[in-house]
Amino acid sequence: MSLFPYKEILEMIKKYDTIIVHRHMRPDPDALGSQGGLVEILKESFPKKRIIKAGGPVGDLDFLITMDEVNDDDYKGSLVIVTDTANTPRISDERYKLGSMLIKIDHHPNDDIYGDVQLVNINASSCSEIIADFYLANQDELTLPKEAARLLYAGIVGDTGRFLYPSTTPHTMRIAAKLMENDFIPNEVNNQMNVVSQKVAKLTGYILQNLTISEVGVAKILLTQEILNTFNVTDMETSSIVSIPGTIDGVLVWGIFVEQTEGHFRCRLRSKGPIINEVAKRHHGGGHPLASGANARNKEEIDQIVEELTDLASKWLNE
Ligand code: AMP
Repeated sequence: MSLFPYKEILEMIKKYDTIIVHRHMRPDPDALGSQGGLVEILKESFPKKRIIKAGGPVGDLDFLITMDEVNDDDYKGSLVIVTDTANTPRISDERYKLGSMLIKIDHHPNDDIYGDVQLVNINASSCSEIIADFYLANQDELTLPKEAARLLYAGIVGDTGRFLYPSTTPHTMRIAAKLMENDFIPNEVNNQMNVVSQKVAKLTGYILQNLTISEVGVAKILLTQEILNTFNVTDMETSSIVSIPGTIDGVLVWGIFVEQTEGHFRCRLRSKGPIINEVAKRHHGGGHPLASGANARNKEEIDQIVEELTDLASKWLNE
């Protein structure tokens, strides 16, 4: 028997006429890939059911998918599935509560155990990989259309940094290979995800020029509203620059601190070794061991976060 409730979830899906799939706010390719991939599999496999994608705007990731219109009435008697979202406050569109039954499918540490059923595999590279596993476990009853394969592949590519991060396992590669057999053009997806706008490219130049790197390899950059306005870039558009400091020799841990219009700072934290999600949790955030997000009320809290990251980096280097 599988460790994971793949069969139970399929049985629940069969019982509902309307299934509404949500994901997290400020979606990344894995949020959209897992949500859209699941929706496309279910649409193809159960043509008589209503399968709906819910959530806020997807920004410049609309080459992947766009959302459906959803009314409050649609939730009556529905099954709601949330993908790629560790905790309830991050679910995009809080009407996820209005369904009859709730399923969580995710790959983040399961700190907020919400929903009636959870399929959480923290060893999966991405939530899209879990959706592919769900499909494979139920292959006799489900169909994977080309569009689902494209979306799941995009999600895996997004969350593994195109197979760069240590979360990439032989299983991840086997899943990616299987998805590639489905006739979409992987190279097209890779290129779409690789492109940055000219203004983000210019912001990248600013980051490379102004990043500070400490002796123990903690890199830091502050992006104030003034800087974002200078480059005409929104917070959402900063997602493609998060991995950049990690490409620089000597950088072990890094934080990109983005001032929000409300005044606090969104902290995007990454690591090549030390486990940083405990730091994120202490500052109104969370996430993966090597990729977390937090919130700082002011610059003093940013300094505090950097100090905590510095302690981790020092310990790591002395081990
Ligand atoms: P980001 O830097 O926003 O790309 O987030 C990196 C990782 O941290 C993602 O896996 C998020 O799910 C997680 N994360 C970001 N912000 C938060 C938050 N406020 N609370 C919990 N987890 C978060």
